[in-house]
Amino acid sequence: MRTSYLFEHPRRCPECGKAAAKHTETYNSVEPYTGNLKIIRDDSYTAFGQFRFHLRLWDGETYIQKYGYFCSLNCTSAYANRMAKTFEG
Ligand SMILES: [Zn+2]
Repeated sequence: MRTSYLFEHPRRCPECGKAAAKHTETYNSVEPYTGNLKIIRDDSYTAFGQFRFHLRLWDGETYIQKYGYFCSLNCTSAYANRMAKTFEG
């Protein structure tokens, strides 16, 4: 099971330094978006004669690392193994 943490700033992965990504959601509808999230990407398109809004929304302040404090499972295990080695030694 994956544990994802949310942050109020682009916290860096402790292993590789990669900054946390914006925590976004996708909006997909024929109706225009009327909420108060920021539209950070607009991939709206017309298909079969109908215009569809396809937007990426962000609250402007929330960031996410996919694996807890880490960006990837590789970083998680590399860090954990170094920690384990330290404790074992
Ligand atoms: Zn990383």
